Parts: sequence; structure tokens; C-alpha cells
Amino acid sequence: MRHLATLMLSLTVFGTAQATAAEVNIYTTREPKLVQPLLEAYSKSTGTKINVVFLKDGMAERIAAEGASSPADIMMAVDAGNLIDLVDKGLTQPVQSKVLKSAIPAELRAADDQWFGLSWRARVIYAAKDLDIETIHYEDLADPKYKGQVCIRSGQHPYNTALTAAYISHHGEEDTAKWLTGLRDNLARKPGGGDRDVAKDIVGGICKIGLANSYYVGLMRSGSGGPEQRPWGDGINVKLPTFTNGGTHVNINGVVLAKNAPNRDEAVKLMEFLVSDEAQKIYAGANYEYPVKKGVAVDPIIASFGEVTIDNLPLAEIVKNRKAATELIDKVGFDN
Ligand code: FE
Repeated sequence: MRHLATLMLSLTVFGTAQATAAEVNIYTTREPKLVQPLLEAYSKSTGTKINVVFLKDGMAERIAAEGASSPADIMMAVDAGNLIDLVDKGLTQPVQSKVLKSAIPAELRAADDQWFGLSWRARVIYAAKDLDIETIHYEDLADPKYKGQVCIRSGQHPYNTALTAAYISHHGEEDTAKWLTGLRDNLARKPGGGDRDVAKDIVGGICKIGLANSYYVGLMRSGSGGPEQRPWGDGINVKLPTFTNGGTHVNINGVVLAKNAPNRDEAVKLMEFLVSDEAQKIYAGANYEYPVKKGVAVDPIIASFGEVTIDNLPLAEIVKNRKAATELIDKVGFDN
């Protein structure tokens, strides 16, 4: 087997599963602990046998190699770009479902029904408590007033390339290059580490402000990321920034139906379960994410950031600028 990180897992409710029990096969790059509770709930209530293949990477390559005989019914992944890659490679099929359409806001699913967001996260500002960030925009991070004060992970990390792609969508490549240059000149340290290191380094006095994902604040403040992370989470202020001409940059975890899904009808049923109130609560709650479905509560730690105005540009449009974003980040020597 090419992918050594593959781990096969069967979730069956013994005793309720019949000899002809329905079955669904899932391929995912998400962590087992984030999807298992959800699938166990579904298995328990329906008797459907769910087989999950957990992959570190190479999902598209693997499904392409399996071809028409691929056992995959549905694929679940983080980042709209990864889902759209599967669509672009011809590995998916559209799902016409009123249930999915009515539960998921239009900006968080494909216009052609090829991919669907299940939960989302925002790219937010972490800042020292004495910094005034009441009216901050993404654009402001390049302001020379933050010289030597900014911490961020690698510019080439997908979280930052996606944000940069959104910046290009709003302002064009030329202004984005200027912004990246200004941001680079404001860095307190070489870009690196993870998003939580932004909070850690603010608390440690290395920097005063940075960009990171919303759910890490939940992981840090709740202590579920480890007790040592609590003071990092508690030691920062969090602000949902917007573009000057848009909203807050978000990205999704989502799902697609495989082109050759052997259990198509069962797979669609499972996809529809994933946007039920029950599933949305479990799925979003597992990693402090925002549920896509209106009316499902977000964790109080995340809710404390206030109302989010999701950026008005479709994720499918933003994803088109990913390559240009990667090239600009390299061109300005962001990570050097
Ligand atoms: Fe993350």
C-alpha cells in the first residue's frame, strides 16, 4: 500500500446491523477524533455500516488511481481548495438535495452542487491586551505602525495562501504584493510554527499582533489542547477583522460525493444527516468550529468573538487565485 498513514476503521453497531446492512465508505484527511463521534451517532441510529479510510494526504491521487473500481462514496476534507481539486480532477458528482441546499448558505457550497461546506472557521486577529484593535481590517496589518510587532506562521501554509488569494480577489495582485511586503516588514520574527504560537509569542512578549484561525482559541482557552495552552488563549484579545471592502475571511470543512460511489443513495442520506441539527452540533463542537446551519449553537468561547460577517466573495472564486498567491508570497520573500 502506497499510503502508510492509512488506517481502516469500521464502525458497526453489532446486533442491529442486518445481513444486508447498508454501507457507506468514506475517505477523509480529517483527524479520526473529529469525525468518529459523528459517524458513530449515524451508525447507531440507522444501522448503516460506515467504513472510514483516514489519509494524511494524497486523497485525490489515490481515488484517481483506484478509478472506476474505487470503493469511496464520499470524501471529507478541510479547505475549499482541496474539495475543488477533487471536483476539477473529475472525481466527484453533483448532489441535488433540498436538504443540503436549505441548510448550507450559498457562499459555503458550490453553485453547481459539486461540494458542500459542513462547518467553517475564520482567520482572525490575535492581539496583546493593551493593543487597540476595535476597528482593524486585514489591510491594516501592513501599516508601519506595527513594525516589529507581527507574528504569523509560514506564508506558504494553506491558511495564509487562502487569505492571500482572498486579498487578490478584493484588491488585485499589485496591491496584494504591496500588502505582503508591508506585512513582511512588520514581522517580529521569521514566519513559522503554528497558529497557536502566535498567541504563545504574544504572551511571551515577542510580538503584539498576528493572524490565526478561530478554533485554536477554543482549543487553548478550554484547555483541551493541553493545560499549558490555557494562558496563551487567555492572554490575548481576539478580533474578527474584515476586508475594507468585504467581510471576514473564512474557510470550510466539507464533503463531496465520489463520481463512482458504489453506495450512492446511502451516501447522499449520510451527507444529509451531516447537516442535521444533531450532526452539526457534534461536528462543529468537536473542533470549536462554526456550524454551517443557522440556529445551531456555536461554542460560547467562539461566540464571544461576536457576530461574523462572512466575506461576500464565493470561495470558488478565491480558490482560483491560490497559485498567484503562492507566487507572490515567494516573490516578496515572505518566509525568508
Ligand atoms: Fe488547523
